[in-house]
Amino acid sequence: MSTFLKVILRNVIKGPSTIKYPFADSPAPEKLRGKIQHNPEACVACRMCEYVCAGGAIRLQESDDKKGVNFVVWHNSCTFCGLCEFYCPTKAIHLTNDYHTAHLQEDKYSFCEKTLVRKQRCSCCGEPIIPLSPTLVEKVYGKDGDEKGLSRMCRKCRRKALWKDGVFKL
Ligand code: SF4
Ligand code: SF4
Repeated sequence: MSTFLKVILRNVIKGPSTIKYPFADSPAPEKLRGKIQHNPEACVACRMCEYVCAGGAIRLQESDDKKGVNFVVWHNSCTFCGLCEFYCPTKAIHLTNDYHTAHLQEDKYSFCEKTLVRKQRCSCCGEPIIPLSPTLVEKVYGKDGDEKGLSRMCRKCRRKALWKDGVFKL
């Protein structure tokens, strides 16, 4: 049997060697930089991601009802550079390995992720604040920082609490 026939026979028996995408899902490498995921619980609305974003894909704006800050990332403007994830001080942004970013032209303004970073009341004076994430409090004030409730205080009350303790950092 000729080599050519052998190849045909082998292919007929083994079936296609490529993935039938888009009819079957194609696995992506774990470290592929794909669609952004934002965790509003960890976000402190510092706007660092908006500042460093190479594609101008991120916007943070106070919500109309003043209950928090709207975080929006437009997937079609994102260049998957990873700067937002790298510079986020609280690890609130993560680039997933989801590469499904094809969309219709008319959907370009709705192809985005929107989350709300909610304001809370300061545990001392009641002023509305974006609470600090425990990760950030630990980074700045050490492991017992969150035990003192610093993450739920406004800047002024946090300063007072730190003066009282003899530790002044913000
Ligand atoms: S996602 Fe990170 S960098 Fe962006 S505003 Fe929130 S805390 Fe700051
Ligand atoms: S990966 Fe780069 S372009 Fe995409 S949102 Fe983050 S900073 Fe912007």
